[in-house]
Amino acid sequence: MTLSDIEIAQQVEMKNIVEIAEKLGISATDLELYGNYKAKIKPIDKKSLKGKLILVTAISPTPAGEGKTTTAVGLADALGHIGKKAAIALREPSLGPVFGIKGGAAGGGYAQVVPMEDINLHFTGDFHAIGAANNLLAAMLDNHIHQGNALGIDSRQITWKRAVDMNDRQLRHIVDGLQGRLNGVPREDGFEITVASEIMAILCLAADLTDLKKRLEKIIVAYNFAGKPVTCGDLKAAGAMTALLKDAMKPNLVQTLEQTPAFIHGGPFANIAHGCNSVQATKMALQYADYAVTEAGFGADLGAEKFMDIKCRLAKLKPNAAVLVATIRALKMHGGVPKKDLATENVPAVVAGLPNLERHLHNLKDNFGLPVVVCINQFPDDTAAELAAVKKACEERGVDVVLSNVWSTGGAGGIELAKKVVELTETQSDVRFAYDTNLSLVEKIEMIAKRIYGAKGVEFMPQAKRELAKLTELGFSDYPICMAKTQYSFSDNPNLLGAPSDFIITIRSVKVSAGAGFIVALTGNIMTMPGLPKHPAAEKIDVDEFGNITGLF
Ligand code: ADP
Ligand code: MG
Repeated sequence: MTLSDIEIAQQVEMKNIVEIAEKLGISATDLELYGNYKAKIKPIDKKSLKGKLILVTAISPTPAGEGKTTTAVGLADALGHIGKKAAIALREPSLGPVFGIKGGAAGGGYAQVVPMEDINLHFTGDFHAIGAANNLLAAMLDNHIHQGNALGIDSRQITWKRAVDMNDRQLRHIVDGLQGRLNGVPREDGFEITVASEIMAILCLAADLTDLKKRLEKIIVAYNFAGKPVTCGDLKAAGAMTALLKDAMKPNLVQTLEQTPAFIHGGPFANIAHGCNSVQATKMALQYADYAVTEAGFGADLGAEKFMDIKCRLAKLKPNAAVLVATIRALKMHGGVPKKDLATENVPAVVAGLPNLERHLHNLKDNFGLPVVVCINQFPDDTAAELAAVKKACEERGVDVVLSNVWSTGGAGGIELAKKVVELTETQSDVRFAYDTNLSLVEKIEMIAKRIYGAKGVEFMPQAKRELAKLTELGFSDYPICMAKTQYSFSDNPNLLGAPSDFIITIRSVKVSAGAGFIVALTGNIMTMPGLPKHPAAEKIDVDEFGNITGLF
């Protein structure tokens, strides 16, 4: 019988978090305990980031995910098996996906972080604090209008939305402030899921509380009747918001099933935001461990690109190696196999899907200068012939490739991967970015589309052109770009699988996240408030009389 993720997680005896911290040389006085198995860590001086940074990324995924989190957790455990001091830095899961389709985001099988129920549910309350800060700003904005609107805010040009950490399509577009003078000013409004809030992106990029407050002040919440930006600073909200976020700014420490320390902190969406855990958590892992393993959301065209061009550029981080996760099922999908047949052996389709892997590999190696190993995350349905085909193809091209079984066996199944990663981090890497920030916004978008996606060109729709002109005029032209694109294809069409080349990227709209410090370029209708499926995962979640949770996955 195969056990579910939560059954495996519940079988393992956790160590007290004080002992886990000790492994990294973090003393009990630097911990703020949240029970026995979770702690927040007091800020550190980031002068000596001694560790090597390893990014786990993936080929263009299937909707089920290819196992980046699972591989990141298993790799850190495996590094422990070969005597290395490793830690992980990961994002916190959002309640939306947990109750929706995807389920939890704490790894899988024997490569998980625990306590998985807590991590997937309220954890240490960070997301609630972020939602509260987001909604305080919304309340102060509407109150300002209600109280006479001294800033001349044009209620048809309000860009700030309310937030809740739930998949709730009902709240996407609403009308509020109804019922007469005493009850506010009626207007069209809407909600985003908390992980899509700019506050989340800011918290993840901020260096410290002072930087956090400065970034919050810069958030553009609306435009006034003269078309000028109105900021959070104009509404005098940043101080109180920082007060709400004071504890949420501190990274959380938990453990893997094999007691490897894991910093889990922040969780920005990977579409309208940059999709990686907080800079603070990554730096803590680098400060306290010799090997810091981290993950970036979506495939490498989005996740690794933003990790490099936004996060590493801003935080001056230099990754030492990348792990490119590939699965047989995703390769088959890129090779043209329909979803229902992905479990059937099909070696020619696996081979036909390899160009997708090759383009991601080329980007990581040649465009970002990262030493890379391809990691085949082995699934129960994979056949020996399929696995051999991928190995052979990589070896023929002189690419490092290893098989990983961390999902089925934990760290022991990732020893070959760990050894290879250690070897790669010992080579001299010459890390670079996909573009220079001093190029124009249009040039930067074109660089990403052509160099990273392999597009023929970029088409800017009239709205995008107007917005680009305005943002340039407002002085945001040196900001990096945060591309909002489907993760299923290099193109902006989710059905164009493999490694397409004869395509144009269409930019419909651009917006600035002035506090986070990037320009979001939207290639389609990007959802900032997802909905639930016909049968949400929530239908299967329950608790027994002793408080044991079942059905989380
Ligand atoms: P990602 O981080 O890339 O989205 P995850 O690590 O969250 O992917 O894995 C996605 C899902 O696939 C999880 O439910 C996980 O348990 C499952 N999974 C990952 N690797 C394997 C594997 N080798 N065999 C079976 N299931 C796996
Ligand atoms: Mg993940």
